[in-house]
Amino acid sequence: MAAERKCPICGKPSVEAFKPFCSKRCADVDLNRWLTGSYVIPARDDEPAAEGDNVVPDYDEDDNI
Ligand SMILES: [Zn+2]
Repeated sequence: MAAERKCPICGKPSVEAFKPFCSKRCADVDLNRWLTGSYVIPARDDEPAAEGDNVVPDYDEDDNI
């Protein structure tokens, strides 16, 4: 009973020819990560969200009525 392996890059079922990856592309991605020395779990969007989009500009108009 062979356990189904999944591609460590994208999680799709692995392909025999590219074990343990699903495609050459994912194998290249993995290789490239090792080569660049930054083998980390891919983060989601790690950038802090810009806050203050709804901030109303604090005008100091000189409005004499
Ligand atoms: Zn993959």
